[in-house]
Amino acid sequence: MFDKILIANRGEIALRVVRACREMGIASVAVHSTADSDAMHVRMADESVCIGPPPSSESYLNVAAIVAACEITGAQAIHPGYGFLSENANFVQALEDHGITFIGPRAEHIRIMGDKITAKDTAKSLGIPVVPGSAGGVHDFDEARRVAAEIGYPVIIKATAGGGGRGMKVALTEEELEIAFRTARSEAKAAFGNDEVYMEKYLQKPRHIEIQVFGDGKGRAVYLGERDCSLQRRHQKVFEEAPGPCITPEQRERIGSVVSKAMAELKYAGAGTIEFLFEDGEFYFIEMNTRLQVEHPVTEAIYGVDLVREQIRVAAGLPMEFHQKDLKIRGAAIEVRINAEKVPNFSPCPGTITQYHAPGGLGVRIDSAIYDGYRIPPYYDSLIGKLIVHGRDREEALARLSRALGELIVDGVDTTVPLFHALLAEPDIQNGDYSIHWLEKWLARTYK
Ligand code: ADP
Repeated sequence: MFDKILIANRGEIALRVVRACREMGIASVAVHSTADSDAMHVRMADESVCIGPPPSSESYLNVAAIVAACEITGAQAIHPGYGFLSENANFVQALEDHGITFIGPRAEHIRIMGDKITAKDTAKSLGIPVVPGSAGGVHDFDEARRVAAEIGYPVIIKATAGGGGRGMKVALTEEELEIAFRTARSEAKAAFGNDEVYMEKYLQKPRHIEIQVFGDGKGRAVYLGERDCSLQRRHQKVFEEAPGPCITPEQRERIGSVVSKAMAELKYAGAGTIEFLFEDGEFYFIEMNTRLQVEHPVTEAIYGVDLVREQIRVAAGLPMEFHQKDLKIRGAAIEVRINAEKVPNFSPCPGTITQYHAPGGLGVRIDSAIYDGYRIPPYYDSLIGKLIVHGRDREEALARLSRALGELIVDGVDTTVPLFHALLAEPDIQNGDYSIHWLEKWLARTYK
C-alpha cells in the first residue's frame, strides 16, 4: 500500500480523497493555486504544495508542477478526482514515465473512451447496446442525408471531439438536416478545432441512466447499479438518484451483466461510469467516463461501499474488496448539487460565505469544502457542496432531503437551494416521472 498520496484537485472532491486516505492510514498531500491557500482541502491534508497562480491552466492543469510536487513530498501515487487531469491520457503517461502511480484506469482506456466514435465502436464490439447511428464520421451532406434516411428522423448531429453538450444539433425532418449538419460542423470546428461530426437517432423522451462499474485491472469487474441523472440543465446534472425510479431489478441485472463483462474483457482498472439514454425499456450507450463521478455518493449510500478506498486499493495492486454476489441495494439515495449560482438564470455568484450551517442527522451526508468566512474564488466551477440523503425507500429519501435542505444555511452568496425546495413540491419529482428534458421545460414554465 502507498504511504503517501497526492491529490491533484481542489474543493469537495479533494477533501473526499483526503478522508479516504486518513481512514486508510495513508498520508495526503494537497496541491493548490495561490487563490486556494485558505481552502479546506489544504487545511485538512497532511501536507500541501502551492503549484501556481489562480488560472487552472497554470495550476491544477500544470503537469510539471504536479509531478514536481510529488517528487518534493515523496508521494507515490496521484488521485485526480474528477475534471482537471482525471481523463487526460498524456498526464497518465507522464506519471508512468516518472514512476508515479495514477489512481485510475490505464492511459489506453482513457484514450479509447475519450474519442466518441472510438468509444462507441468499442462499446458495440463489446456487446454494449448503442444508439442507432452512422458508422463513424459523416463527411458531407449527401452522406448525412443517406444515413438519416437509413436510421429515420429525428436525428442528432454530434461532434466527434465533443463535450459539455456543445456542437450538437437536432434535425426533426429532412428539411432541417442541411442547416443542422452545417451548424454542427462549424460549431464543432470553433469549439474543438475539429469539424468531424457523426449522427445518431434522436431519442425524444429518454432518461439519463448511468451504470457504475469497477474493475480490478486483471479481468474481474462488477457493476454497482445505476444512477438516474435525467434532471439536467444545459446537459449539466443537478439532481441524481439511485436506484433509478424507473429501472426494474431485471433491467438492472441485464445491463449490469453486459457492462461488467465488457469491463472484465478490457481488464479495466478502477471506477468507471457507462452512460446510457434509456427509453421504452432499452439502454443506448452514449459515453463512458473513466473516473470517479461527482454523483458517486448515491451509489456509496445504497451499496455501503467506499469507492475511493477501493480505487486506491486497486491502484496499489490489491484485490477489490467486493464481489458481485455481495453487492445488494439498501434503500434509496438522492444527491443535490449546491452551486453558488443565482436561480433562475444560474449565473455564478462567487463571494464570501458569511454563515454556514450544515444539516445532520440520520441518513444525511454533506460533501463540501466551504466554511464560515470562506471566500469562493471566481476561477473555478461553482459547485460548493453536495447534499446526499439516504432513506429506506425513495419516499423516505425525499422527506429527508426536504428536512435537510430546511436545516442548511449558506448565507452571503446565492445558491441553488431554492431550486430544490421548488422541485420537491412537484408531483413529477415526487413520482420519479421525468426525462432529460423535464427540467428545462419546467424552468421555462416556472420562471417565464
Ligand atoms: P457531451 O459529451 O457533450 O456531454 P453526450 O453524448 O454525453 O455529450 O450527450 C449529452 C446529452 O445530450 C445527453 O445526456 C442527452 O441529454 C443529450 N443527447 C445525446 N445524444 C442524444 C440522442 N441520441 N438523443 C437524444 N438526446 C441525446
